[in-house]
Amino acid sequence: MTKMDSAVEKLVNQHIAEELRASHIYLALSAYLESAEFPGMAEWMRQQAAEERMHAMKFYKHLVDRGNQVVIQAIPKPTKDFDGPHDAFHAAVKREVSTTKSIHNLYDKAAEAKDYPLQVLLDWFVTEQVEEEQHLQQIVDQLERIGDDGTGLVMLDRELGKRGAPTGT
Ligand code: MG
Repeated sequence: MTKMDSAVEKLVNQHIAEELRASHIYLALSAYLESAEFPGMAEWMRQQAAEERMHAMKFYKHLVDRGNQVVIQAIPKPTKDFDGPHDAFHAAVKREVSTTKSIHNLYDKAAEAKDYPLQVLLDWFVTEQVEEEQHLQQIVDQLERIGDDGTGLVMLDRELGKRGAPTGT
């Protein structure tokens, strides 16, 4: 079994914490949106939280498959107060930009260590991050266009509430 270099293993464990932190943040955003009476957006955030947990588990499985050690880290308490749906989704975009940076940093280190299996796993994540950022930015743009229009907000809330459970791909 080709074990991962210990310095890279440490970074993967840190990245697992980033994905779990993202899941935690999305759950906090969901709770906020529930309290602000946007049940559809809250559901969207809950599904996003579930997806982030699946991302963490992809790295978890990779470490186990390679014969490396998984070390679960502490997760900071997320912010609970936001200023409406636009602020909430804007916070989500910022979170994704941080996750992308962590993935790119990991990619650099995997390349330096000539860790080909990790690079193959990361290829999927590089593409996934482009989609995540694009999709969230699209929602933020829609919220900017809607502004304070109640009907527009209700329609977008209904639309986002249709999101199904993540498939893991
Ligand atoms: Mg993720």
